[in-house]
Amino acid sequence: MESKIRVGILGATGMVGQRFVQLLENHPQFEVTALAASDQSIGKQFEEACSWRLVTPLPEAVRSLQVQAPQPPLDCDVIFSSLPSSIAGDIETSFAVAGYPVISNSSSHRMDSHVPLLIPEVNPEQLGMIGRQRQRFDCSGGFIVANPNCVVIVMAMALAPLHRQFTVKSIVATTLQSISGAGYPGVASMDITDNVLPFIAQEEEKIENETRKILGQCNSESVEYAQFGVSAQCHRVNVQDGHLVALRVGFEQKPSISEVKHSLASFCGEPQRLGLFSAPKHPLIVREESDRPQPRLDRDAGKGMSITVGRIQKDKVLDFRLVALGHNTIRGAAGAALLNAELLLARGYFDKQNVLDSPEAKRRPA
Ligand code: NAP
Repeated sequence: MESKIRVGILGATGMVGQRFVQLLENHPQFEVTALAASDQSIGKQFEEACSWRLVTPLPEAVRSLQVQAPQPPLDCDVIFSSLPSSIAGDIETSFAVAGYPVISNSSSHRMDSHVPLLIPEVNPEQLGMIGRQRQRFDCSGGFIVANPNCVVIVMAMALAPLHRQFTVKSIVATTLQSISGAGYPGVASMDITDNVLPFIAQEEEKIENETRKILGQCNSESVEYAQFGVSAQCHRVNVQDGHLVALRVGFEQKPSISEVKHSLASFCGEPQRLGLFSAPKHPLIVREESDRPQPRLDRDAGKGMSITVGRIQKDKVLDFRLVALGHNTIRGAAGAALLNAELLLARGYFDKQNVLDSPEAKRRPA
């Protein structure tokens, strides 16, 4: 049996870090061998450092792993980063320079021109940008791939097939985002109980920028951002897990309701074709009931990896309206990063020589 790829998790004690630990238990291709977090956790065993907040038990294999500082070298082959964006940038770069593939959940590198902003079903062609990182990381074989923001993943998944078929012209997005999206301990209970907070720092800008990069046209050198306009308003609501986004969308072509539904329901991509371990059978699930999707009922669809879309109707101002929902720490973070890693593995990107020999890398001047 082939040995598993050894994974190091940065920010392992946090909401996303815990989800990584949970999803990696019994993964056929990856195993956790290194955990890192802040000064308050370094040197402690993981079970002591981490306030485990998931319903499944803390996996036996990581209980006694000692938490380390988030700096290379770590005893692993690949890095999953779930560090706060305020500190993630330089740390992630230092791992890439040291030769580690880094898959990041933070916003630090998402908009970098040489970093793929990857959703495997939507834009696997952005992996071609990894070749552009060769010079920057001094031929170490390391690179950075970013996950989009957690609510942007939900939105971009729902829009991707529609943009491909009918060309999106304009988007108005209103989000209702869960408490776990703010990390642990996150928002104070006195602020969120019996309340809605109509502000999430920098979230509206992320939606407006990242969506255009994800759905842009990619050639191996760069991404030409999608031309549509995006207007977003974000709200934190008193829901444990699951981000919901109400979308109004204008199109260049004018599809019928049944064409929109068919486009969404039949959507699948490379993870489904390759049969990747974390790939949901249906990346998008269309619900016909007038009161779906709902966070409690739909966030775990496809083991948290499917996006549920409902309330698909013609709109009186833009062409269509719909509501999309996804699990923010699974499809919006750790599960998304894992699917990215499975695609990278399937494409040979964890074999250092392949990265250096790739056509994209060779096209760059030495
Ligand atoms: P969190 O619960 O607050 O966890 C933060 C983690 O980072 C903890 O492990 C913490 O370790 C560690 N950390 C904090 N300051 C550090 C420092 N100075 N040096 C080293 N480690 C430090 O946050 P989260 O929700 O997991 O989010 C993590 C990242 O993922 C953020 O960039 C966030 O924007 C992004 N993200 C989150 C979600 C979500 O739904 N929550 C979704 C997508 C992306 P200690 O326990 O030792 O303090």
